[in-house]
Amino acid sequence: MTTRRSWIESANDPGTDFPIENLPFGVVERSDESEPRIAVAIGDRVLDLRECVSRGLLSGQRDEVRRALSSDSLNTLAGLGRQVSSTVRRAVTGLLDAGDDRLRTSSDRDHLVRPMSEIRSVMPFRIGDYTDFYASEHHATNVGSMFRPDNPLMPNWKHLPVGYHGRASSIVESGRPVRRPHGQTVGPDGPPPSYGPVRLLDYELEMGFFIGAGSELGSPVPIERALDHVFGLVLVNDWSARDVQKWEYQPLGPFNAKNFATTISPWVVTLDALEPFMVSGPPRATDDPRNLEYLRWGDDVAMDIELEVAIRSTQMRERGMPAHRVSLGNYRDMYWTIAQMVAHHTSTGCDLRPGDLMASGTVSGPTEDSRGCLLERTWRGERPISLPDGTERRFLQDGDEVVIRGWAERDGRRIGFGECTGLVLPALGG
Ligand code: CA
Repeated sequence: MTTRRSWIESANDPGTDFPIENLPFGVVERSDESEPRIAVAIGDRVLDLRECVSRGLLSGQRDEVRRALSSDSLNTLAGLGRQVSSTVRRAVTGLLDAGDDRLRTSSDRDHLVRPMSEIRSVMPFRIGDYTDFYASEHHATNVGSMFRPDNPLMPNWKHLPVGYHGRASSIVESGRPVRRPHGQTVGPDGPPPSYGPVRLLDYELEMGFFIGAGSELGSPVPIERALDHVFGLVLVNDWSARDVQKWEYQPLGPFNAKNFATTISPWVVTLDALEPFMVSGPPRATDDPRNLEYLRWGDDVAMDIELEVAIRSTQMRERGMPAHRVSLGNYRDMYWTIAQMVAHHTSTGCDLRPGDLMASGTVSGPTEDSRGCLLERTWRGERPISLPDGTERRFLQDGDEVVIRGWAERDGRRIGFGECTGLVLPALGG
């Protein structure tokens, strides 16, 4: 990997999530300007692309691209396709390069480049549709064996990437607190059910990806073109109410157990930035079925992205303690790839629109400490985990903050995702 340098010194720090090779896109609010604006993260700063356009610093871009960059969401820019976003990214890389003076010596520099601590990240896209998959064999096998010990992996599982259509309206940006929902549940003795604050609140560690270029209704996207429709990736926490899920999930799958909140990280890391971390395809056992042709692609790849979940309780926060790592996994362990998910999703002719979000499903690896949700990590609460404040967790408690981090790293360079955080608030009336 190159070690290109930026004139923004914090971007050259080996520990930063946002070196010049990353340049993830986001939407930010700044206190001195009225409209949200598209920006890229660079070290501990953000570069305001709307202001770059208005000051002529991106004059090499076509009119429609400059208009898209002046928008208050990434939908229009992403909808122009991967080639356009790659071109923009290259132009921005030029402005931030250590050898380039155009922005560095500009009198507007301090207006265009703002400290990250002075801006607020908001939702990067207006999300029209949200689909959640179930692509980890370890997760599907673990959860399946709890609910159906004799039949953990359903007969369809290795033939298609299982998913469900989720709820887009309740997807929130990192940092927004999440209220413990009420729901209908049954106790250990079975029905009749009762309604009240859920008891078994959980997180799910997932990778999400945003659709850039849309597709036509009626036209499946061939797998070898699938990544042309992907703008970039974010971290996802699919908050889940396990007691609601257990009672409601048959026969149609998750509903209220999943629709109250999904948190995403604010910076969308492009496929261009992740290219050096694409590794050979996902794991297959010799006796696994061969995929049908529409799910088969010789060049398909997995992605080598480390994923961490940490928890910080109220007491830990009060005592100034950092969030405590409870799991560490890797996205490359997933059975189904992004290209396969896109190909399968559109195989009926279902169309894609810019800003659709798809998520991978819980990322769990083969070991206990790489399990991406508490249901698996504590095995339904039978093996609680300890926090450094002396308490134990089976499921989330009010005041717990869940912090997800992700990064790809090689040769001292790190392409990071920042954080995806959410604090659990007590249920209403509780
Ligand atoms: Ca999920």
